[in-house]
Amino acid sequence: MVEVKEKIKIESRCGIECSKCEFLKEKKCIGCLNIKKPFWGDSCPVKSCCENKELTCCGKCSEFPCDLLKSFAYDEKQGDDGLRIENCKKWCGLK
Ligand code: SF4
Ligand code: SF4
Repeated sequence: MVEVKEKIKIESRCGIECSKCEFLKEKKCIGCLNIKKPFWGDSCPVKSCCENKELTCCGKCSEFPCDLLKSFAYDEKQGDDGLRIENCKKWCGLK
């Protein structure tokens, strides 16, 4: 029997799962990879940094996980306790 590996889809530059986001469900946002600028501000420093390096995801970066990404991931109010960093690893084959 041929083993079929689940295809892992990169959902955002920083590791946030856009598919689980309320703003996507409510059609207020079309997802990190499809937008030029985030709906919540003029720019996202993580998204800009990643795109300036022509990377699909921070997990592909030689500086991963950098201090900027960690500051987002572990932010007291907006962070997810590092979940997005784990997603970057999963999506980019780092674990
Ligand atoms: S925080 Fe930035 S990089 Fe992460 S999903 Fe939002 S716009 Fe994309
Ligand atoms: S890991 Fe950090 S330096 Fe690398 S692309 Fe992401 S934000 Fe930029």
